[in-house]
Amino acid sequence: MDKIKMTTPIVEMDGDEMTRILWKMIKDELINPFIDLKSEYYDLGLEHRNETNDQVTIDSANATKKYGVAVKCATITPNQARMSEYNLKEMWKSPNGTIRAMLDGTVFRAPILVKGIEPCVKNWEKPITLARHAYGDVYKNVEIIVPGKGVAKLVFEGEDGERQEQIIHKFEGPGIIQGMHNTNASIESFARACFTYAIALKQDIWFATKDTISKKYDHTFKDVFTEIYEKEFKAKFEELGLEYFYTLIDDAVARVMKSKGGFIWACKNYDGDVMSDMVSSAFGSLAMMTSVLVSPDGVYEYEAAHGTVQRHYYKYLKGEETSTNSVATIFAWTGALRKRGELDGNNELMKFADILEKATLDTIESGKMTKDLALITTFKDVTVLNSGDFIKAIRENLEKAL
Ligand code: NAP
Ligand code: MG
Repeated sequence: MDKIKMTTPIVEMDGDEMTRILWKMIKDELINPFIDLKSEYYDLGLEHRNETNDQVTIDSANATKKYGVAVKCATITPNQARMSEYNLKEMWKSPNGTIRAMLDGTVFRAPILVKGIEPCVKNWEKPITLARHAYGDVYKNVEIIVPGKGVAKLVFEGEDGERQEQIIHKFEGPGIIQGMHNTNASIESFARACFTYAIALKQDIWFATKDTISKKYDHTFKDVFTEIYEKEFKAKFEELGLEYFYTLIDDAVARVMKSKGGFIWACKNYDGDVMSDMVSSAFGSLAMMTSVLVSPDGVYEYEAAHGTVQRHYYKYLKGEETSTNSVATIFAWTGALRKRGELDGNNELMKFADILEKATLDTIESGKMTKDLALITTFKDVTVLNSGDFIKAIRENLEKAL
């Protein structure tokens, strides 16, 4: 069989620990034998980030802007322990944070559904994709511990001399205060990313806040979404038969539980943080979760939703057997290859992505899986494979399907 040709490179961001080991196995077994891979390679492994003073992360984000599609391996976000482990010059920032800020993106996460791994919510038949606003609110807050009696005020001083002031509370005793903000620019790009992604997925989109209680803050989110939808997206939604639907967050939660799935749920930053953990664990496992960062101008970066699986890596280093689930990382590759194919009009590449995904799911459905899934599957008598053998089993199915 001739290898599939590519016209435009994808940006390849290598990473750390166990996922770096999986990365190489996936390329060796599932990508390179079948595709004449064109990629611009950036090593985001912590050692190389440290050597380049993190310039490599910035370069990889710029390359993503240039080419439009990237695939990223999980990476270490350094903390104090990593400073000594890797002898770091600085506590480099989270690569995901850097890339997200440069692409001005929204993160979309969706579970990978497979027979034998059943959602806890029995009426969920299709995946629910969570779109999380990734800027501001409580994540950029300022807080004060109030020691005792006094007045707390909210003040805005405009550069043009405008002044607004409100009393938050007249304290009679100790208490707490919190200040939060967001910007219209960030909410607008969040809205555009959501509507653009809904069109790409051909799915309805739900958005919810608590605008009945927060009549200015949350209401601004609602207004920005409505305005951008009406002006820029309504016609396209109607043409595709899609729906944009706004409701209160408590109503949304109730409806999500009763739904069949198959839509995108856009959430404010905090709601998205909490709800994505609920939705992902209700669907099965973080290792069965895709994640894509989409910029408002349509640049895509695909990754797995989980981290570098450090504990497994230390076992691997000691020469012990590991059974690490590579599905989310494989789906990061298929997501990027399919998008590349779509943008380049490369049908073969898109078809390959579909076949590789099916081969992966067929492997699990035939009872061959990694340990994390074996623990939660409804199948009886499953074969638990190690990290490498699971990928080899997928390759066998892939070769048959091709
Ligand atoms: P993690 O890598 O997601 O792993 C946490 C635990 O979840 C693992 O120990 C394992 O449980 C299970 N798990 C996660 N992915 C799995 C997989 N593919 N197959 C099987 N089991 C899996 O989180 P962490 O250990 O807290 O973080 C490790 C590093 O990842 C940190 O340095 C963090 O900064 C980084 N991180 C990166 C990203 C990213 O780049 N997107 C995201 C999150 C964290 P058992 O050990 O019980 O088997
Ligand atoms: Mg969280």
